[in-house]
Amino acid sequence: MTLEVILPRGRRVDVEKAISARASWLSSQYERLYKTRHVLTPSSVMFGGVHLKIVFAEGPGEGLAPNMEKREVAVHATNLKHIRELVRRWFLKESSSYTVRKVNELAPIVGARPSRVDVREIGKWGYCTRDGRLSFSWQLIALPEELREYVVVHELTHLLHFNHSRAFRKKLATVCPDFRLREKELDLIVPYDRLGLQ
Ligand SMILES: [Zn+2]
Repeated sequence: MTLEVILPRGRRVDVEKAISARASWLSSQYERLYKTRHVLTPSSVMFGGVHLKIVFAEGPGEGLAPNMEKREVAVHATNLKHIRELVRRWFLKESSSYTVRKVNELAPIVGARPSRVDVREIGKWGYCTRDGRLSFSWQLIALPEELREYVVVHELTHLLHFNHSRAFRKKLATVCPDFRLREKELDLIVPYDRLGLQ
């Protein structure tokens, strides 16, 4: 990566000074760019935090076969556009069984009682309603375990505190003491959205 510095015309600028004055901002931006991870690109798909290489096979019949050991996912599709649809179906299924299992496991620990749990095409990792319904993104399964688990704990905690108040964070910390770290990591993951890839 290179850093390009554009100087304003006709003004004397001490470049080194200007850069050092912004050093911490620059390094945080650099770190952000460097560490950003995408759920789905034309060549890879993230599953459980592992980036699998997409191996595309054109031809009749459609299907998708992940191979975690080889870190690959073989995709049979009639054309490239169908990859997204196959991944979506795969993720919906996996995210659904994951959230049902995790909510059952974690709800008693948090002390919350959700009325319903579902997986949807939403722009957030998760959200909840005041009547106790929890919804999670179809892409949840892509996240590393400690992050997808965090999303579930976060939403369950909202059933006790419907805000991000001190009380909410305090409760969150009892179940997930390193939640701030997990939030930071989650921020670096870019979910797939319809506009990003055709
Ligand atoms: Zn929240």
